Amino acid sequence: MTKTIYFSGNIELKDMPVPLSNERFSELFPGVVGRGYDSFKKLAGRHEGKLMPITRIIYRTSNPSNHKCGAMCRSATGPNCECACGGRDHGTTA
Ligand SMILES: [Zn+2]
Repeated sequence: MTKTIYFSGNIELKDMPVPLSNERFSELFPGVVGRGYDSFKKLAGRHEGKLMPITRIIYRTSNPSNHKCGAMCRSATGPNCECACGGRDHGTTA
């Protein structure tokens, strides 16, 4: 089983993501490059009641290696993260 984790910056959004139309998304979050649900919708999620843009989507296997996080993780361009950061730092400098 692969777990999907949604992030807005380095904040994990634990609730179910909400698909927004591209227009609504750019109205709410001007200038933010969001992650697509499909080519017409982008995803947002709630954090402490506030709607936030989802900027990274991370996949983790149910038994990740949890190795020490480092430059390889931070510069990763793919969505799969197995390291100890739990996806928080994954791809953030890519
Ligand atoms: Zn990491």
